[in-house]
Amino acid sequence: MKMPMSFLNDLRDFFFPRLCLTCGARLLKDEDGFCCSCMTDFPYTNIGNKPGNEVEKYFWGRFPIERATSVFYYAKGGSVAHILYAMKYYGRYRLCEKMGKLMAHELLSCGFFEGIDCMVPVPLHKSRLRGRGYNQSFLLAKGISDVTTIPVFDNVLVRLRNNVTQTHKGAFERWQNVDRLFQATEKSCVLEGKHILLVDDVLTTGATLVACADALSAIKDIRISVITLAWAK
Ligand SMILES: [Zn+2]
Repeated sequence: MKMPMSFLNDLRDFFFPRLCLTCGARLLKDEDGFCCSCMTDFPYTNIGNKPGNEVEKYFWGRFPIERATSVFYYAKGGSVAHILYAMKYYGRYRLCEKMGKLMAHELLSCGFFEGIDCMVPVPLHKSRLRGRGYNQSFLLAKGISDVTTIPVFDNVLVRLRNNVTQTHKGAFERWQNVDRLFQATEKSCVLEGKHILLVDDVLTTGATLVACADALSAIKDIRISVITLAWAK
């Protein structure tokens, strides 16, 4: 006898209740990753597509940025921190795509994506990609692409080193740490004359994204914008 899928899901939920990543409450059938009440409390930055916003300012004087935005504030121990942790360390690849879709829906009406030709996710070093099995920034971009239909190019940039964790470093060390961290590949010639959107999970000092932009800067007539899921202000 073939069991209906919904029954099997009910059975699974009974034995292995799915819990909200943020508050730990048991999730309802239609909820995924986090509960509705946590979702309404998410710390949106509401930066949208404002020219000259605070996120954009991180990149001023570093490379000629077109526009930049972050969707959520990141705070230690806060809801977005829980989500980022799950995205990276619990193999929650579906959650990454879901967050990408959320980012796209949040920014669709303000015109942030207008004129953007393609997205380039910040790459992981191949050894870390092997360990994790996926790049969370690529999946965020894929989620954004599902909503906006903007294509994702994940073969135009490579990470040359696995830089040690940035969290214990001072600002100067962080910038040194990312010097020539990325390299454009042969395939990057498709970016000529294009407006690209760099996609990353969290903005801290901007050093990683600047290193990506540096690696792509030799490409003729490239224009670069930046989007991150979270901003550690
Ligand atoms: Zn919750």
